[in-house]
Amino acid sequence: MNKSVGEQAFKNVVKLINDVCDRMDIAEICRLKLGQCERELIVHFPVKMDDGGVKIFTGFRIVHSDTRGPGKGGIRYHPDVTLDEVRALAALMTLKTAVANVPYGGAKGAVICNPKVLSQNELERLTRRYAAEISILIGPESDIPAPDVGTNPQVMAWIMDTYSMGKGYSVPAVVTGKPIEIGGSVGRFEATGRSCMIGALLAAKRLGINIRGATIAVQGLGNVGAVTAKLLAREGCCVIAISDSKGGVYNPKGLDLNGLLAQKREEGSVIGFKDAETITNAELLELQCDILIPAAIEDQIVETNAGSVKARIIIEGANGPTTPEADRILIDKGILVVPDILANMGGVVVSYLEWVQDLQSFFWDEAQVNGYLQKIMTNAFAEVSGISQREKVDMRIAAYMLALHRLAVAMTMRGVFP
Ligand code: NAD
Repeated sequence: MNKSVGEQAFKNVVKLINDVCDRMDIAEICRLKLGQCERELIVHFPVKMDDGGVKIFTGFRIVHSDTRGPGKGGIRYHPDVTLDEVRALAALMTLKTAVANVPYGGAKGAVICNPKVLSQNELERLTRRYAAEISILIGPESDIPAPDVGTNPQVMAWIMDTYSMGKGYSVPAVVTGKPIEIGGSVGRFEATGRSCMIGALLAAKRLGINIRGATIAVQGLGNVGAVTAKLLAREGCCVIAISDSKGGVYNPKGLDLNGLLAQKREEGSVIGFKDAETITNAELLELQCDILIPAAIEDQIVETNAGSVKARIIIEGANGPTTPEADRILIDKGILVVPDILANMGGVVVSYLEWVQDLQSFFWDEAQVNGYLQKIMTNAFAEVSGISQREKVDMRIAAYMLALHRLAVAMTMRGVFP
């Protein structure tokens, strides 16, 4: 994301927070505090490269709010990531953890780098040095990172190990999304896709759409997109289109999902898949379908294409895939948008369950983890849906209302130090 787009993303989140505060009788302290990030750390650090040279990388770790609990949020490795983009993502985490009603604040981190061109050894050295640099902020009681775009369980394992070396003992609860063998949770890998699936089922029920045979288009075949597609197919949906960064494939009669996932694994792309037409990412967003799931990156549904979206429901698997201008157009068209801070909360919910298991050193089975997620997601959807119908507002405004109410109550109770 370029600098000005990142800046706009943070301004957009703060503007929506202010607009929603205006609608409600929200304590002024809430608006003032949430308009800024509480802590922002910028680090410039050297990494030894495989060719014997040294390169300087820049990273960030930001806690937007810790009012309701420790900071919580992923770490992104991307060549275009900016400070303002990280601020925006951290603020979304504050809202998301409040909607989910888990005892966390919101945080996010990033390193400006292209992980696809780094060797595994370079990636490890970069991660360990970044972890050491941000260790003045992170910790099980203060700020708990997790994977995001460009990072994965292995990266979390290196962060956990680096932090633990500094302490002199193992601290698994310092990160979530770890491999299961070192304190990760069963169900974490699928959690975000699972909450998107639950959101899609509940949204379809609300509109009276039969999920069996409902047509689905998914943008992005990464962790979130692939799991959502698989789980919805298991519910009887017909997945008609899927894309990755190189483009998409479409078959109105349905795609062979297992074959497509195998091709993606072996060839790195969905392009050229048998029995399917090749389409662009832009065309995928405008397909005739029941449920559209943007599960790739920010700013995909914008003012210029929102009018052409034909889906009846949008489940925001990605963070921030819809711009505010596009949002208004979608709402006017009567499309039910399940916003990111509700739809994709599964990742942070099961991160919370992983952290709880680490802290108590007692681990649950998958049925228990999925059961908790089902309950938390169903409750959150019902609460947001209830506010949306009672206050006659869209689901995004309703989710912000729920989050801001919880944040304002907590801020008022805690008061201002000293
Ligand atoms: P990922 O890196 O596993 O997958 C991203 C996918 O998007 C890949 O298939 C990639 O090819 C595709 N993509 C990238 N650029 C694209 C473009 N311009 N057009 C179309 N497709 C493109 O990432 P992920 O973990 O699945 O995350 C996807 C989104 O979901 C991000 O916005 C992330 O912040 C959000 N999210 C992830 C989690 C999680 O637990 N992984 C939780 C909450 C939100």
